[in-house]
Amino acid sequence: MVNIRVPFVNLAAAFKNDSHAISKAIDEIGNSGQYILGPNVKNFEEEFAAFIGTKYAIGVANGSDALFLVMKALGIGPGDEVITQPNSFLASAWTIVATGATPVFCEVDETLGLDPEHLSKLITSRTKAVMPVHLSGNPARVDAIQAVLVGTGIELIEDAAQAVGAKFNGKRVGSFGIASAFSLHPLKNLGIIGDGGVITTNSDDMYTTIIKLRNHGLIDRDHCEIWGYNSRLDELQAAVASIRLNKLDKNTTRVQKIANKYSTALAGFVNLPKSYDRSEPVFHNYIVHTENRNALQSFLHGVGVETKIHYPIPIHLQACAESLGYKVGSFPICEYQSTNSISLPIYPELSDEQVEIVISEIKNFFKKAP
Ligand SMILES: *Cc1c(COP(=O)(O)O)cnc(C)c1O
Repeated sequence: MVNIRVPFVNLAAAFKNDSHAISKAIDEIGNSGQYILGPNVKNFEEEFAAFIGTKYAIGVANGSDALFLVMKALGIGPGDEVITQPNSFLASAWTIVATGATPVFCEVDETLGLDPEHLSKLITSRTKAVMPVHLSGNPARVDAIQAVLVGTGIELIEDAAQAVGAKFNGKRVGSFGIASAFSLHPLKNLGIIGDGGVITTNSDDMYTTIIKLRNHGLIDRDHCEIWGYNSRLDELQAAVASIRLNKLDKNTTRVQKIANKYSTALAGFVNLPKSYDRSEPVFHNYIVHTENRNALQSFLHGVGVETKIHYPIPIHLQACAESLGYKVGSFPICEYQSTNSISLPIYPELSDEQVEIVISEIKNFFKKAP
């Protein structure tokens, strides 16, 4: 058995830093008797809206529901098309399918974001929304995407599940489109100790509709205006989210410092992550590319450095997507990246010593590689 020197994630280490505050919150909420849609959810929603810079934030059950409810609130359904990118996590696409609409995939660029030039060729009379993903915490090229959409009536929905706090043009992502979706899944950069999600919006209409949709369609205890869902963030998880939102900027600074160390040390060995001049990524993942990817990954695992691939199979090549009619070669840049990318460990609790281990082992690999 290999001794793991650098685990890919270490959620228990993050919990250790918060466990006192979380225990206190559990005690208070347990004693309050109010577990659903209480003061902790309201408080977190206000803090999150202020943090992102939107009028509203709405807590929901998970990031997938956040995407789904935004599309439902926009009336997206059968016969409609929503454009997103094939290199994302599956939820970016299945939530479109769940509304009855058809996902249309757009090629990506070297920042892993949706390519605005390819986007302009995909728009049809059925296109209702474009959903760029701020993948790995790296902002998509929001200005160029918005420019394509001007005057079309097509809505911009940001999938910001991996990018809480990232900035584009000095503004937090999740504040550009009609509404945006965030995930609080434990593995995301604002992770809690269970499932959760958030929607942000500046629109009064979107806000009032989503508030109903997440709670059965009810407007009060006894009156239901529209058919809805049960998709709520609970009080305990909202309290954890507040505790962690408070530390997010500090944690992000640490993660960005680690990313800088990697980038300085690994230049010339692998292709480094790229982002636009005007964007400030939060490095949910630190993804590099090398044609020796598989050999590098097995070498690193052999020396106790865990890595992952985000994601080895693009969505358009998954079995579930067969009926959409894409094939190998449909998105050459996306497919090249999925074959050659590798994600290195990156989280605030990673020690400087562990960062050095990752760097020196990658250099060792390339010294030995032919
Ligand atoms: C995680 C993720 C989602 C879904 O969030 P959940 O909270 O897991 O439902 C959606 N989009 C992207 C890009 C994600 O990474």
